[in-house]
Amino acid sequence: MSISETQVGIIGAGPAGLVLSHLLARAGIEAVVLETRSREYVEHRVRAGVLEQSTIDLLDELSLSARLRAEGLIHRGILIGLEGRRYRIPLSELTSGRAITIYGQQELVKDLIAARLAAGGDIEFEVEAVELSGLETQRPTIRYHQRGHPHELHCDFVAGCDGSHGVSRRSIPPGVLRVYERRYPFAWLGILAAVAPSTDELIYARHERGFALHSVRSPTISRLYIQVDPGTALADWPDDRLWQELQLRLGTNDGWTLADGPVLEKSIALHHSFVVEPMQHGRLFLAGDAAHIVPPTGAKGLNLAVADVRMLARAIGHWYRGRQTEELERYSERCLNRIWRVQEFSSWLTGLLHRLPGMDPFDDRIARARLEWVCRSEAEALSLAENYVCLPFEYSDQISKNIVS
Ligand SMILES: Cc1cc2nc3c(=O)[nH]c(=O)nc-3n(C[C@H](O)[C@H](O)[C@H](O)COP(=O)(O)OP(=O)(O)OC[C@H]3O[C@@H](n4cnc5c(N)ncnc54)[C@H](O)[C@@H]3O)c2cc1C
Repeated sequence: MSISETQVGIIGAGPAGLVLSHLLARAGIEAVVLETRSREYVEHRVRAGVLEQSTIDLLDELSLSARLRAEGLIHRGILIGLEGRRYRIPLSELTSGRAITIYGQQELVKDLIAARLAAGGDIEFEVEAVELSGLETQRPTIRYHQRGHPHELHCDFVAGCDGSHGVSRRSIPPGVLRVYERRYPFAWLGILAAVAPSTDELIYARHERGFALHSVRSPTISRLYIQVDPGTALADWPDDRLWQELQLRLGTNDGWTLADGPVLEKSIALHHSFVVEPMQHGRLFLAGDAAHIVPPTGAKGLNLAVADVRMLARAIGHWYRGRQTEELERYSERCLNRIWRVQEFSSWLTGLLHRLPGMDPFDDRIARARLEWVCRSEAEALSLAENYVCLPFEYSDQISKNIVS
């Protein structure tokens, strides 16, 4: 058995764990990142691609944005498709110039890993059987195996950044966490295709056959999704059928056509909203998907993960500077204000754009009228734009300022 020590043990090398390791390093705090998968696997896992302005600002601050700045695509608006027409929401005009950047999560993960290792950081891949103990003590322990050998890592804090199926949340004793959850009666079938995007801006379409999204990843790679039944199998959707359905749902009355191409990756993601409260227990702090999941419609999961770890790094930094526990104690509360704002936005946008199975025709007409109003009313479009591109990290502090009694 090998025994080692660090200040912060980080479980998971996804965006949350990796950004946290950079933030801690900047503050002079030592951390070890433990990841079950191989480096190759995490660097090629296709998931998110829309980065909010605050996420980009933080990556700039950490000098981690050179490739992202060179290769990422800045989008200043999004398009909404409804009944064969397209409307534009001018995100930047509405938010004093703020924008989203399209850059694949796997590319960001590659950059974060390369920069951390180049700076001498410690990321252990392919660890197994991770177990947490002593969370209620001042010196928690992480036990794991790597290449058949047992290891023990002693630390001051454990950051549970291991996603929705990780070990961290499960290590909290029963009865501590309150779980809020909603399952949606649909899923997204997503593809990555080797074809130039047929649009300059993302198209979110509501169609009588269900939602469709034309997103992009680069000038030569498109990312597309359609709403499907949650019980659907990938085999039900051969490429030809999928391209036809996308053309139908994204199509316009003026004959816009969708270019197709080789499908590089195809997957189905269920829609799920989930939050646990509190996001901490003893010396364990949960961040990112380990603590919450949002349906992907609002493109928020990765951005929320980054916002959490920014708050966590700040709180841990305060503790090391003067053993002040206040920020650590308030970690969960401060993250949760922003998380619930994002949950509300993601659930609103999901409801606005998807057609529920067996939807009552009256409700369907109301839903279409609501979406049309978002496209026509500047106040509605502003609300969408504010939530989509520029939710400030300090959201929690800002609400406190508006409390009058
Ligand atoms: C189809 C799809 C599209 C999406 N689109 C967007 C989007 O456009 N914009 C957006 O912001 N978000 C999007 N998301 C969500 C986003 O991908 C996640 O919210 C994000 O990955 C969360 O980061 P994380 O670091 O918290 O968790 P993860 O990325 O899940 O990372 C957790 C890591 O922990 C590792 N791990 C798990 N268990 C253990 C263990 N026991 N020990 C050690 N390591 C462990 C995992 O292998 C993984 O590497 C999308 C998600 C999906 C599925």
